[in-house]
Amino acid sequence: MTAVAEAPGLPDLEQRLALVACGENTRPGKTRACDSCSNKSGTLLRITATGAADALAAAICGTGDCRVRTCDPCKEKAVRMIHLYNEEAE
Ligand SMILES: [Zn+2]
Ligand SMILES: [Zn+2]
Repeated sequence: MTAVAEAPGLPDLEQRLALVACGENTRPGKTRACDSCSNKSGTLLRITATGAADALAAAICGTGDCRVRTCDPCKEKAVRMIHLYNEEAE
């Protein structure tokens, strides 16, 4: 029995972006963003929509979920999220 998404009303895209920000790449099988990232999904979506990768990377870093020293991974996530957004937006 699968319960409805814990974040009702949260658009799919928003969840996808939060999941990328949360690091879906680093954890195989991960299908949900953590609470911290989910809570930021609205902000992430807003920044993603502007296409500002730097600002987005900074926002991702600010989730407290960044366990790497370099911000390159965050930058990569940002680029990926913007790419994803552009695909979905079409
Ligand atoms: Zn997270
Ligand atoms: Zn970072």
